[in-house]
Amino acid sequence: MLRWLGKWLRAAGYDTMTAEGGVPDRVVAARCAIETRILLTKDRHLAATAKGVARVVLVAAGGIDEGAVVLRAALDLDWQHAPFTRCILDNRPLEPAPADLAARVPERLRSAAGPVQRCAECGRLDWPGGHVRRMQLRLAPSSPRPEEERKGRMQPGAVTGPLMG
Ligand SMILES: [Zn+2]
Repeated sequence: MLRWLGKWLRAAGYDTMTAEGGVPDRVVAARCAIETRILLTKDRHLAATAKGVARVVLVAAGGIDEGAVVLRAALDLDWQHAPFTRCILDNRPLEPAPADLAARVPERLRSAAGPVQRCAECGRLDWPGGHVRRMQLRLAPSSPRPEEERKGRMQPGAVTGPLMG
């Protein structure tokens, strides 16, 4: 239910796993304990099951802004922790893309200087383009946000398909 929040946490550089549907609550709780993960959920039953086993933060229903505020308060979360160092889809740390792949990203698509990075897991290429700048604005605690970002969910800006390595 908090899959979107997982993507934002990864975008900020936090090692974040999302539980698949159908996994029993006690299994989720046990995994958090074993991997010393903090369980973020809006499921009160799961939170109750995991209490005493793992650290739990109950995130009330709401959007990105509410979630960001709750996590900043509960966990002293830094949304600028290590931005854009981790694949938002599968949590794998990004690596510098091989030069031949990086060269396939047109210069005009890169609105900020920075290296093209690649996820070795899914082959996604990422680079500091417009979506990165918008997310940085969004994640910064006190920065004003562009109007078009207020309602929308994060738009993955990476390339798949023909640019997958
Ligand atoms: Zn990936």
